[in-house]
Amino acid sequence: MSLLSVGSVAFDKIETPFGKSDKILGGAGTYIGLAASKLGVKNAIVSVVGGDFPQEYLNLLQTSGSDISGIEIIPTGKTFFWEGKYHIDMNSRDTLVTELNVLEQFDPKISDEWKSPRIVMLGNLHPLVQASVLNQIEDTDLVVMDTMNFWMDSTWDELIKVIERVDVLTINDEEARQLSNEYSLVKAARKIMDMGPKYLVIKKGEHGALLFHENQVFFAPALPLEEVFDPTGAGDTFAGGFSAYLANSNEINFDTMKAAIIMGSALASFTVEKFGTERLIEVTNEEINDRLKQFEALTQYEMDLP
Ligand code: AMP
Repeated sequence: MSLLSVGSVAFDKIETPFGKSDKILGGAGTYIGLAASKLGVKNAIVSVVGGDFPQEYLNLLQTSGSDISGIEIIPTGKTFFWEGKYHIDMNSRDTLVTELNVLEQFDPKISDEWKSPRIVMLGNLHPLVQASVLNQIEDTDLVVMDTMNFWMDSTWDELIKVIERVDVLTINDEEARQLSNEYSLVKAARKIMDMGPKYLVIKKGEHGALLFHENQVFFAPALPLEEVFDPTGAGDTFAGGFSAYLANSNEINFDTMKAAIIMGSALASFTVEKFGTERLIEVTNEEINDRLKQFEALTQYEMDLP
């Protein structure tokens, strides 16, 4: 049961109301791979970095459990760099710098060993790069895709063509509204599912996530946390936990996706507690299980009907 992910492996520089980081390990592919490794799922990260990327970070991804043979190193190139600053409520952030560097010419190559993974997770990247990965896949049970408003603004036609080919799309509420031109998320979901995906996950940050499929809807809350330090990577950790949970499920359907959403939310709740990948890396299975129990308690109630 395996998960192939493609996504940025990056340097991030982050400022939140609680502090500033130096250039640290980041990138969607990094968070997806780390989340999958935490769940003990066989996974590979496909990405590209420059000669400036520390071997120590590659070792970290590998010893955590990801197959990193699909991370190409371009010795003369520079690694993707992203800098962001969060506002006081932490629900919104400004991107201060995006330097694509080696990601600009990224031509992903999937090795024969990884052409038939159980699940493919297309992290937020140029839609043509996402399409190129799909073109190399020979067999898979499920394709999950993440994207963002940046690609809706700049590469609409290419984006729509990839969306047509995926089973699950994960986006946030603002992006769902932009993609569908509908304010109501229920109407937006219907329109987006008409574009191709059978399932739609709408992420609402600290307000949880919604799962849509045909006429069904499921809502998963986010855990009210005492420590919210840096939300960077929460969406990617969610996507990684969600996809990895499904990679290990016997069945893939609406019910197993509900559980996958809770797993994604539980892992993401750790990511936000410290800068970058720090908290996700150190989290133990026991802590994950405790948090899953907290999710259960948060949503369970009994009621006598009148
Ligand atoms: P998230 O907070 O889950 O939305 O993801 C943040 C991560 O996405 C950071 O680690 C960034 O390195 C990465 N990222 C930001 N912008 C882009 C982009 N345009 N392409 C690929 N990765 C990006």
